[in-house]
Amino acid sequence: MSDIVDVAVIGAGPYGLSVAAHLRAAGVDYRHFGMPMRLWKETMPEGMFLKSQGFASNLSDPDGTHTLEAFCKATSRPYASYGLPVSLENFVSYGQWFQAERGLAVEERTVSGIVQRDSGFELTVDGVDRVLARRVVVAIGVEAFAHVAEPLSALPPDLCTHSSAHPDLAKFNGQEVFVVGAGQSALETAALLHENGASVQVLVRKGVVAWNGAPLNPDRPLLKRLREPESGLGSGWATWFYSNHPELFRQLPSHTRVYRARTALGPAGASWLRPRVEGQFPVLLGHAVTSATEQDGRVRLAVTRAGQSGRELEADHVIAATGYRTDVRRLQFLPEALRSRLQTLVGSPVVGRDYQSSVPGLFFVGTAVAPTMGPVMRFVFGTWHAAPVVARKLAGASGRKLQPAVTASR
Ligand SMILES: Cc1cc2nc3c(=O)[nH]c(=O)nc-3n(C[C@H](O)[C@H](O)[C@H](O)COP(=O)(O)OP(=O)(O)OC[C@H]3O[C@@H](n4cnc5c(N)ncnc54)[C@H](O)[C@@H]3O)c2cc1C
Repeated sequence: MSDIVDVAVIGAGPYGLSVAAHLRAAGVDYRHFGMPMRLWKETMPEGMFLKSQGFASNLSDPDGTHTLEAFCKATSRPYASYGLPVSLENFVSYGQWFQAERGLAVEERTVSGIVQRDSGFELTVDGVDRVLARRVVVAIGVEAFAHVAEPLSALPPDLCTHSSAHPDLAKFNGQEVFVVGAGQSALETAALLHENGASVQVLVRKGVVAWNGAPLNPDRPLLKRLREPESGLGSGWATWFYSNHPELFRQLPSHTRVYRARTALGPAGASWLRPRVEGQFPVLLGHAVTSATEQDGRVRLAVTRAGQSGRELEADHVIAATGYRTDVRRLQFLPEALRSRLQTLVGSPVVGRDYQSSVPGLFFVGTAVAPTMGPVMRFVFGTWHAAPVVARKLAGASGRKLQPAVTASR
């Protein structure tokens, strides 16, 4: 068995890498497990662009030096804080550059189990090795929480898949495909399917698709900026609050937090995506799927339309762009004995101001804590709050010298 480390970090996406950058700078003894940027490299479709602006897509480091802008400059790629969509390819490369430049050693292995021991936690790595850590930071993102909405979930996997199952949408060339959903993921998946030669139809339950406006001019007059401030997650005072003050969001009543974490910044397409959707392929508004069956190797969907009779539609495949739902019961590496000690809210671990759960020494960051810390935890921008706060707590507990935190800048 290995010697005990102060901290183990599980997950090497934007949150895990940011936490590691702060821990390393603070001199904390830690080990880091996960496949760097795996969600982005292996589950998102080739040709995708990020919805977040350039300035809001920075991973957090203690000096504020390893930004997306610095990466683009170093590698001669185009960059703008606002208005120039960040490509998936650039973002994945940025994550890898961040890891290399910050000297972050990541063990490309999976944590398959955690149990509590007197000294802290015992992790099982790749099902065989045992690692002891005094504290653990869980930064495992959304992969385990892909949600295929009913009644689509009853279909066999060769006919219905979640949107995260398709790094390469070109394989649907020549096929008829439904996309169910109304968010950026549904609309961008549909656009990429269409551009890759599939015949696509989008089914939207609501009567309208929401589109974000073009980014506001950062140099607009002060009064306009005061009326509608711009922040990491978008514009407006509510969004500014969610973006910048997770610690205050935490103080709201739990029903408000749950509602806001789910609905704030709800499904909407980016302004730059709109011309690639509208007029390009059918977007069937007000269409709710009531049943989904297989017939002769194809998908048959019964749909109802507001105020009209239902209809049946057929295609070769249906992609459920129906999001992610956190539920700690789906985390196979957390045994029942540990899970039952986790205080949860709508399936998410409740954390304190330092991101520590009800199990002392077990920390959670990212989407999993959105009902406590707010919608910013669903985005890369939230790393600027979570990573320094967690690292400061862990460095303090280890008796290490603390690093000053910097805030995200444009
Ligand atoms: C299609 C799509 C587009 C998005 N676009 C944006 C955007 O434009 N801007 C934005 O801010 N956010 C966007 N998001 C949200 C995005 O998921 C988060 O912002 C970001 O990925 C959060 O980082 P993370 O580190 O928490 O999670 P992840 O990026 O999911 O990283 C978690 C990592 O943990 C690893 N892991 C999981 N379990 C284990 C285990 N047991 N052992 C070891 N490793 C493990 C995973 O393999 C993964 O690499 C998008 C999400 C999707 C699905």
